Amino acid sequence: EEEALIKAEKLFIAGQMAAGIAHEIRNPLTSLKGFTQFLKSKTDNYHEYYDIMLTELDRINAIVQEFMALAKPQANHLKNHDLINIMQHVNTLLETQANLNNVQIRTQIDDGHPFVRCDENQLKQVFINILKNAIEAMPEGGEVMIELDTRQSDLVMIQITDQGIGIPKEQLGKLGGPFFTTKSSGTGLGLMVCHRIIQAHQGTMFITSELNKGTTVTIQLPVIQQY
Ligand code: ADP
Ligand code: MG
Repeated sequence: EEEALIKAEKLFIAGQMAAGIAHEIRNPLTSLKGFTQFLKSKTDNYHEYYDIMLTELDRINAIVQEFMALAKPQANHLKNHDLINIMQHVNTLLETQANLNNVQIRTQIDDGHPFVRCDENQLKQVFINILKNAIEAMPEGGEVMIELDTRQSDLVMIQITDQGIGIPKEQLGKLGGPFFTTKSSGTGLGLMVCHRIIQAHQGTMFITSELNKGTTVTIQLPVIQQY
């Protein structure tokens, strides 16, 4: 038991260090990006190289940001929030990216109107990460369905289903582990962040998938009241 405690403490310290480093990396990164853009605008040569540099800088930035989300103290701004509001806000945020990829995001809500005690930004981050994965899983476009099931009074079930490439069985177990990605420009941190946040909200999250058919992410969260 003591060993477990020491391990938890070590993990915590590692997390804090990672967050600190991530934070420090952001400023130099911003100036690198700015000057790269500047140099690109000053010449007609080597644009493809500048573009690679900019893409890679964006990738570092994404990793750094996800790292910071990971190491942030979890669920410490808890308030009662209207879950439907949160979902609608996330949909608005992702509308452009969805449109660009020929993806329709549809929402199906039953009669209930659940309120959830949560850190609003963290919960939004969860849905953003999951919807981004859904969009990225459908290179030819398609539909993402968000369903809210409020039939149980004390919890809400949120299911997000895409019609994408799916996940091979042997990879399902690796999801949510750090840096597991199958994307050329992925970070492999998105789902890990989701798990951490949902856990901190006393919820559960699991993923089912069928190859070439699609993927469903199911989240259950405690509900404080329904209207
Ligand atoms: P990233 O998106 O940066 O790769 P994530 O943690 O968000 O990192 O996802 C990890 C991996 O899980 C992805 O690279 C992909 O292989 C798989 N994955 C997650 N969501 C989906 C999905 N909706 N459809 C297919 N594969 C998915
Ligand atoms: Mg992702």
